[in-house]
Amino acid sequence: MRDGNAVWGRYAKPSVRGTRLQRSVHAEVVVVGAGISGAMIAQSLAEAGICPLIVDRRRAAILGSTAASTALLQFELDTPLTTLRRTIGPRKAEKVWLASREAVNELRTRSARLGIQAHLETRPSLYLAGNVLDAKGLQREVAFRQRIGLQSEYLDRHALRHHFGIDRSAALLSHGNAEANPVELAAGYLRMALRDGARLHTPHDIVSIDCGRRETTLLTADGIELRARHVVLCTGYELARIVPASGSRIISTWAIATRPQPRALWPQKALIWEASDPYLYMRTTVDGRVICGGEDEAFADAGRRNSLALRKSKRLEAKLHRMFPELDCRAAVAWSGSFGGSRNGMPTIGAIPGYPRCYAVMGYGGNGITFSMLAARLITAAVLGKKDPAAPLFAFRAA
Ligand SMILES: Cc1cc2nc3c(=O)[nH]c(=O)nc-3n(C[C@H](O)[C@H](O)[C@H](O)COP(=O)(O)OP(=O)(O)OC[C@H]3O[C@@H](n4cnc5c(N)ncnc54)[C@H](O)[C@@H]3O)c2cc1C
Repeated sequence: MRDGNAVWGRYAKPSVRGTRLQRSVHAEVVVVGAGISGAMIAQSLAEAGICPLIVDRRRAAILGSTAASTALLQFELDTPLTTLRRTIGPRKAEKVWLASREAVNELRTRSARLGIQAHLETRPSLYLAGNVLDAKGLQREVAFRQRIGLQSEYLDRHALRHHFGIDRSAALLSHGNAEANPVELAAGYLRMALRDGARLHTPHDIVSIDCGRRETTLLTADGIELRARHVVLCTGYELARIVPASGSRIISTWAIATRPQPRALWPQKALIWEASDPYLYMRTTVDGRVICGGEDEAFADAGRRNSLALRKSKRLEAKLHRMFPELDCRAAVAWSGSFGGSRNGMPTIGAIPGYPRCYAVMGYGGNGITFSMLAARLITAAVLGKKDPAAPLFAFRAA
């Protein structure tokens, strides 16, 4: 799931402990997976008065993709609005982008309300012209974005060089995105869930799920039965057998972090990414490191991912140097990981067809954490039996 220790290991590591279950239990809701999705969903459920039982197959919480995440918290999907309009229709595409912006806003306000700091900072983002959208493409993109009230503006080569010192034909400067330490963020949400009555049990590997008319029975590898009225599968890209995998794919990705160099950073500590496939992205950390990631490839094999690590980090160093020659671009930390994505950059969130009261969240892509927040809203509404107008946009299509 990930190799090498991510840069987050260089900062104080929050501890959220789970206990081992000794016997079979019953809960109103079982959440499988204690990454950022499970944490946000459990917190939202607990706040609504439903105390979920959270289980994770690893020895502790937050040891999956979340621990490797570079945590750019963007409303901007991997798929440009221009492209998504063509593939799923203009109205639907606009609703998806607006739901994504709402999720980033909710992430910010909810975290503040709960006192979760996690070095969560609002940042502008720069989306640089590349092989997916050139300068003309970015002009079309900004027009569509502005038409639905998204805060993006077009920078031509001159403005981009003047304001950010970057030499590209054009970029979009957008406002209202954010960055965080993903481990602290997930730990914060888990702690709040536990405070409000959730329980966390590790390590328990769910090996079978048997869905009955009134309740679902989950069996752990060590023979413990969990019975629940609702089950929420937040297992990242390690999909349970009952989750339809069609359309989802596993992406491996690499990242480096430089030494701290707070005086050498670019203006506004903007999140930077490219309108390219695969794309390169950058952000800064609280102590002035530069994180640079990308080089994505569509496979999951950890051995292959590891064997490419040195070559990929050298390429990231070189690309970072091309953009910012004055930075010390050498990798002080290098790591890699995998996450689940989808072809159109949209997640799938909701009830699993044919499995009453069982829900899954999957296929998040590069906006994983934004969509974890969206999932918290949609899944809580579903468990409470409420209708959310955004739910059909992200639902599983019935088989
Ligand atoms: C290098 C990298 C960079 C990234 N950068 C960004 C970024 O900048 N911005 C962004 O938004 N997203 C980013 N992502 C994606 C984002 O990190 C993921 O979408 C997100 O972390 C997924 O969280 P999750 O909780 O769904 O999954 P995970 O964090 O993988 O958690 C799933 C949990 O489920 C548990 N589990 C699985 N199967 C079982 C089972 N059968 N029984 C019990 N437990 C089980 C696992 O042990 C794990 O703890 C990045 C990912 C990587 C790897």
